[in-house]
Amino acid sequence: MTLLGLDIGGTEIKAGLVDSSGRILRSASVATPGDLDTLRGTLAGVVARLATGAALRAAGVAAKGIIDAATTRVEALPGTLSFLEGWLLADLMAPLLPGTPVAADNDARAALAGELRWGAAQGRRDAVLLTLGTGVGGAVVANGRLLRGVGGVAGHFGHLTLDPDGPPCICGNHGCLETFFSARAIEAEAFAVVHRGCDTRLAELVRNGKLTCAAVFETAAAGDAQAKRIVERAARVLAAGIASLIHAYDPEAVIVGGQIAQAGEPLFAILRTEAAWRTRRLLRREVPIVPARFTAEAGLLGAAALALEAAS
Ligand SMILES: [Zn+2]
Repeated sequence: MTLLGLDIGGTEIKAGLVDSSGRILRSASVATPGDLDTLRGTLAGVVARLATGAALRAAGVAAKGIIDAATTRVEALPGTLSFLEGWLLADLMAPLLPGTPVAADNDARAALAGELRWGAAQGRRDAVLLTLGTGVGGAVVANGRLLRGVGGVAGHFGHLTLDPDGPPCICGNHGCLETFFSARAIEAEAFAVVHRGCDTRLAELVRNGKLTCAAVFETAAAGDAQAKRIVERAARVLAAGIASLIHAYDPEAVIVGGQIAQAGEPLFAILRTEAAWRTRRLLRREVPIVPARFTAEAGLLGAAALALEAAS
């Protein structure tokens, strides 16, 4: 069975033909256009390139924001793709793939669908997933079902309130998880330290225009005291958020993916230690915190997993 997975991101659209065992047969990526008409043309080009001659069974689309999975309507999508708000993703795809069923959902929820089908959540009925990137996304499977909530918002873990009087967040709340742990928050903290004139190798990164979240993690791993403090503090806040999720959902495992999860063991070690002592007494076990299997292709494969669900 051949499926088409599309991950419509803020800067890049990733697409791939995927078989029912999760193997990517063909893939393509293009820059995300800034308006609807160009997007239609871009999608047509990508679909023609990948799907011509393939017997497609179903297509899946993953995007940020709030997507109504029942109708594929984009309910809310702030940022560069806001022109998609109000549109049905199935309607966008219909002229390109006549008669092919189209499924759609939020990208983190799609990523969990992919991990459930082919990755780190395989065989699980209760799991929590966090995606660590520019912001923080999330998804939950409880008793074998992906939670969507009444309005499709369930799983927006970047907006767990971790400090009632904390920094203002893009969502209107204060002290959300992603104001402490996200690529943007970590970079902002690093800029602040440099701006205050602290003695740190981060200053050189700022001077060369190379201050990224990944660079802060690398500088921390190389032993820089300020970078270490920033990374450890952010990771402790994330671990506190994970502890809350463990208490809320009592999952078999917590799966952590996204670009920042590439930091690997230095990050996971803090998450495991901090989450364990906060949850051990109530849970009576240590809930595994494991890396997602899929990284850059998580959205594309997740979209294909949604398609597979729709086709079966
Ligand atoms: Zn928020």
